[in-house]
Amino acid sequence: MLEFVAPIGENYTHGILVAGCPVSLGMADRQPSVLNDMDRFCDEALAENSIYALLHRERDRLFPDEMFADLFCDKGRRSVPPSVVATVMVLQRLEGLSDREATERYSFDARWRYAAGVGSYDCGGWGSFAHTVLVDFRARLDRSGDKRRIFNRSVEVAGEAGLVGARRVLDSTPLYDAVATMDTITLIRSAIRGLLKVADAVLEAQLRGLIRSGDDYLSSAKPQIDWDDQAAREELIHSRAQDGYAILAHLDSQKLEGAVADAAQLLATVLGQDLEENEDGVFRIARRVAADRVISTVDPEARHGHKTSARGFDGYKGSVAVDPDSEIITDTEVSAANAADASVAADLIDDLTGGNSADRDEDPANSSDSDSDSGGGGGEEPAVTARRAGGNKGARKAKGRQAGKASAQVARAARATARRANVRARRQRRLSRQAQPKVYGDAAYGSGEFLDHLARTGIDSGCKTQPPVAPGGRYSKEHFYIDLDADTVTCPAGEEVTIRRNKSGDGIACFESACAACPLRSDCTTAAQGRTIQVGRHEALLTEARAQANDPQWRDDYRQTRPKVERKLAHLMRRRHGGRRARVRGRTKVDADFNLLAAAHNLARLAVLGVRGGPEGIWAIA
Ligand code: SF4
Repeated sequence: MLEFVAPIGENYTHGILVAGCPVSLGMADRQPSVLNDMDRFCDEALAENSIYALLHRERDRLFPDEMFADLFCDKGRRSVPPSVVATVMVLQRLEGLSDREATERYSFDARWRYAAGVGSYDCGGWGSFAHTVLVDFRARLDRSGDKRRIFNRSVEVAGEAGLVGARRVLDSTPLYDAVATMDTITLIRSAIRGLLKVADAVLEAQLRGLIRSGDDYLSSAKPQIDWDDQAAREELIHSRAQDGYAILAHLDSQKLEGAVADAAQLLATVLGQDLEENEDGVFRIARRVAADRVISTVDPEARHGHKTSARGFDGYKGSVAVDPDSEIITDTEVSAANAADASVAADLIDDLTGGNSADRDEDPANSSDSDSDSGGGGGEEPAVTARRAGGNKGARKAKGRQAGKASAQVARAARATARRANVRARRQRRLSRQAQPKVYGDAAYGSGEFLDHLARTGIDSGCKTQPPVAPGGRYSKEHFYIDLDADTVTCPAGEEVTIRRNKSGDGIACFESACAACPLRSDCTTAAQGRTIQVGRHEALLTEARAQANDPQWRDDYRQTRPKVERKLAHLMRRRHGGRRARVRGRTKVDADFNLLAAAHNLARLAVLGVRGGPEGIWAIA
C-alpha cells in the first residue's frame, strides 16, 4: 500500500484534509442526462474539433477512472473521479492556470464542466472540489511509477488513429527554473543553514560549536557589510568558507544518512565549485565557472545553460520528439540546462528503436508491482471532502451502485486494453513494413554518438552536422585529408602524420615540428606546438553526414520537415505560467509537468484532427 503524507489543514473551498484517511476510487456517472441544459448549450455552441468537445465525447475512453485504479485503495472515502481530475489537469496545462484558478474554472466555466462530463449543477455531478485534490492527484501519480500515463495514452490513441509514423523531429527549449539564482555567499550560507536545519539537536549543537564567523545562520538575509569595501567582502567569503569547511571536516569521520548526508553533500559541492584557497590559506571566489555549477540550494538540480552563445538561462531544458506529419508529440525529456541536446536524443526516439518510454520512470522502489502487493496505491492518504452539487438525495444508493459497477467496468476496460494492444501491434507491424524511420534535428543533434546510435538502429539521419571551422579563416579540418584505413592525416602542405588513438578510439594527429618551417603556417595555425587535428571514433559517420548535407534533395527534405518542431515548441511555451517558467522544483517534477503539458497539446491536436473513438474502442479520424 502506498504511503502518502501530506499537510493537514483546512482547504480553501469546503473540504478538510484528513491525514491517515484512506481514499478509494470514485467513479464518474457515465449516463448522460437528457435534462442537462448546459450540455445541450455546449453541444451547439462549441466547435466539434475543440478540446472541450473531444474531452466531453471521448473522456471515458481516453482516461477512464479504471486507468487510475492503482492510485487508490479498496476502502475509504470516494475520491473525486480520476477522469474528472485528469480532464481538469489537461485543461489547466493547456490554459496555463494555477491549481486554484483551475478548480475555480472547473466550478464556473460551462466548457470545463462540459469537458469533465459533470454537467450542470443539478445533475448530480461534482459541483466543485478543492485545489488540493490536484496536488494530491499529482503526488499519487508521481508515486505510482507511471506518472506519464496521461501522455502515453494520448500517444497511444494517436498511434491507433494512424497519426504516428516513423519520422521524428527533435528539438529543445529552455525552461526557466522556479527559484532565484543565488550568488556564492548566499549559496554557502543557505547550504550551512540547510544542514543545521536537518541535523538533530545533538549534531546541530556540535556543528554550531564549530562556527567561528559569528553568523548564527538563522536568517536567509545577507550579512550587513559595506559591499563596496573589497576587504569586507573578502573577509565575509573567507569566514563563511571556514565555517563550511570546519563543519565538513567534523562530518568527514561520521556515517551520514538521509537528509543530513544530502545536505552535507550539497555544502561540499557549493564550497568546492566556487572557492579556491590561496597560498596563505585564504578562501576567495575562484575566477572560473564550474562546469556543472549548482545555482540554487532550493533547487540543486537547476543549472545555468545557453541556448545560443549569446543567450543564457537558468533552469532546465525541455526536449521533444514530434511526428512531423501529424504534429503529435511522441516523447518528452527534461534535462539540466547545461546538458547537450544530443544527450537525451536516444531516449526521445526509443519508440522507434524498440525501447519503452513508459518504463523510463519506473523506479524499482516505487514500482506498480509493489503497489499492487499492498492492495492499492491509495494507502492511508489524506482525503478531501467535496460537495456534490444538487443535494445528497440518493447519494448512498449511487455509491452502492458504483461499487458494483466497478468490477465489471474494470473487466471491460481490460478487454478493451487487450483489443487496443492488438490493433496497435498490427499497425506497428504495418508501419515498420511501410516506412523507413528517419530522425531530424539541428546541428545540436548531429553528434558522432547520436549518428552512431541512428546507424546501429537502422534509422536514417536527417540531423545536420556542424561543418568544421577554424578561427581567423585559417585552414579548417576539411582542408586536411583523413585516411581512416591507414589512420593518417595529410595536411595542405603534404605532410602526413599518424593518428594517435586513446583507449576509447578517439585520436589526434599532431604536426608538431613539421609546422615550424612551413610556408603555409600563417594560414594554418598560430599554436607554438604546431597544428593538431582531432579525429574522433565516429569520424567516418560525421564525414558522411557532412557530405549528405550537401545533397539538394536531403536539404529540401530537411528544410520542409525540421521547422515543424519549432511551431510545436512555440505552442507549448505560449503560456507564461507553466509554459516557459517551471511551476515546480526539481528535474523529476519539472519533467512530469512538461510531459503533462505535451499530453494536453496532443489531445488538443487530436481534437483538431477530428479523432474519434469507435464502438470497438478503435480510434480513427472521422
Ligand atoms: S602549418 Fe603544419 S599542418 Fe599546417 S600546412 Fe604547414 S605543416 Fe601542414
